[in-house]
Amino acid sequence: MTLTCACPNAAGSGRLAPEPGSNQSSNDLNANRQARLRIGVLALQGAFARHVASLNRCGVEAFEVRDAAQLADCDALVLPGGESTTMSMLLDRSDLRAPLAARLSDGLPVFGTCAGMILLAETIADGRPDQMPLRAIDIDVRRNGYGRQLDSFEADIDVAGLDDGPFRAVFIRAPVVTRVGPDVNILAEVEGDAVMCSSGNVVVASFHPELTDDDRLHRLFLQSLLG
Ligand code: GLN
Repeated sequence: MTLTCACPNAAGSGRLAPEPGSNQSSNDLNANRQARLRIGVLALQGAFARHVASLNRCGVEAFEVRDAAQLADCDALVLPGGESTTMSMLLDRSDLRAPLAARLSDGLPVFGTCAGMILLAETIADGRPDQMPLRAIDIDVRRNGYGRQLDSFEADIDVAGLDDGPFRAVFIRAPVVTRVGPDVNILAEVEGDAVMCSSGNVVVASFHPELTDDDRLHRLFLQSLLG
């Protein structure tokens, strides 16, 4: 995964910089810097608790984001799976849509899974008429696009940049990616359809990495924040 880092604390501010005079190994330093990342998980609805648990297992203290102050405290944000129509409505009700849109356009690194991917897309087919996409990544998606027979399924997928073999991806009423813009990297596919993509600081997956004990995708996201 090639994400450029716009994490304010990873570079410019020095908050995550090595201690002067430190002779720790670079692995220790990276673990140290990673542990100091402030990772929020949008917690309006859906599988946010599982993402918090995955991130905690990776050694960062993730926290739930429900208001603008918590959003302002994030170095990066995870948008979980759940129900994108409900989450979209709750973004409006909690007055989070405008501050989230502002942080996204400032380059806040985000990882959106399933409904989170839908929220971040450029266009949404089969959504509610009042469901506004955040347009943070140039892909089009169709909600529940795998149809009734493939409502839920699992697949072993190869993910670009992921070592140690395929990832067991759990799809639950997943969106289908119907268009990928020219600046978007496809990181994984299932039968010719993109199921994981990135562009700039945005990474999206149409499946649920938080529902397995395999934390490699969360680790990959965290590593991308450190550059
Ligand atoms: N179908 C759901 C939606 O449209 C997404 C499903 C999921 O996140 N598992 O939001």
